[in-house]
Amino acid sequence: MKRICAVGAGFSGAVIARELAERGVPVLVVDERSHIAGNCHTERDADTGIMVHRYGPHIFHTADERVWSYVNRFTEMMPYTNRVKATVGGKVYSLPINLHTINQFFGKSMSPSEAQAFIEAQARTDIQDPQSFEEQGLRFVGDALYKAFFDGYTRKQWGVEPSKLPASILKRLPLRFNYDDNYFNHPYQGMPRDGYTAIVGKILDHEKIEVRLSCAFEDLDEEFEHVFYSGPLDRYFKYDLGRLRYRTLDFEEIRASGDFQGTAVMNYPDPGVPFTRISEHKHFAPWEAQSFEKTIAFREYSRACEPGDTPYYPIRLLDDKVLLEAYEDRAAQEKGVTFVGRLGTYQYLDMDVTIGRALDVMESFLS
Ligand code: FAD
Ligand code: UDP
Repeated sequence: MKRICAVGAGFSGAVIARELAERGVPVLVVDERSHIAGNCHTERDADTGIMVHRYGPHIFHTADERVWSYVNRFTEMMPYTNRVKATVGGKVYSLPINLHTINQFFGKSMSPSEAQAFIEAQARTDIQDPQSFEEQGLRFVGDALYKAFFDGYTRKQWGVEPSKLPASILKRLPLRFNYDDNYFNHPYQGMPRDGYTAIVGKILDHEKIEVRLSCAFEDLDEEFEHVFYSGPLDRYFKYDLGRLRYRTLDFEEIRASGDFQGTAVMNYPDPGVPFTRISEHKHFAPWEAQSFEKTIAFREYSRACEPGDTPYYPIRLLDDKVLLEAYEDRAAQEKGVTFVGRLGTYQYLDMDVTIGRALDVMESFLS
């Protein structure tokens, strides 16, 4: 019997391989990187022992009980609540925008209902059905908060006018009229005790699964029963219709002793600051952070993804969507291949959605 191939050893490829292996189907998982776990890869820094998120900070959060119990089969999830801060105009504020942010920003001490009325008076209620990021921001919090917290950050992050971006990007963020500063609304949130690479390693640890690293799918000369492809959709077709656009990230490493910024994530929305945020990785593991004398942090710079760069964020503007549809038509005609994951479907997918989608794909494939 021919094997099935899962291209990419991130969450998509690993979950798919496991679902097949548990039903006795042999799978080859191939990844061109020298490690598993894709963009969620974590490893202990050789000098300090701190668990470093190599491709940017990852916090697990979900409302999907099925996905939460799935990951808990393979790791111990430690309690973790993402509390993000932002430095704006030389002052430090709390995110997502909550009662503390509003009172501090406007120099007031309003109650929840007073703050809600105050923000409603500032919000651009003439924008009935916000389509763009800018309209959503102005409708959501009004001009002053929008300019301070969203406009500059978004221009740096996405490299385009916020009026050209979809409103959905901002809809990810809550607005609260109480002092709850949890960045996410989901009921389940946590950090894997031993990092994400350990989870993916356990998912892949099955006698029916062979993992081959530092090997591109294009270099294989084996025939497969079926291929699940979590690499970039346009790359599969050799970019022959053009390239789907992404943003990539550059990380500038900071090494220091003690505590660098006192928290895991500090955003920098000011347009004059070239980076978007600094993440200090020992704070993602509060249960062990005190045991490290040294610290590692990363300044994050966003720019257009060129050939050879790591694709991080799909841009999905109008032109990209037209090209995407053309590739999707090709993909639908491609026999024996299913395109999955963040790159294979050219969608911004969090880890929980990635895992949920992989489980769904397997449910329909296996039935
Ligand atoms: P990937 O992890 O990208 O894996 C794809 C793999 O395929 C890669 O390892 C690649 O090397 C390999 N590959 C591609 N093409 C080929 C080929 N032709 N041959 C061989 N190998 C190939 N999600 C959250 O839930 N919480 C967060 O806090 C969070 N933070 C994030 C921060 C950043 C900066 C980014 C970019 C993403 C973040 N995410 C977060 C999303 C998370 O990274 C994704 O949900 C997840 O990585 C998707 O998994 P995947 O397996 O689909 O893709
Ligand atoms: N955003 C912003 N200011 C911030 C944080 C986020 O303008 O301080 C915008 C930005 O456009 C970003 C989007 O909100 O892309 C979603 O934010 P999130 O923190 O979810 O981004 P991610 O962690 O996925 O990079």
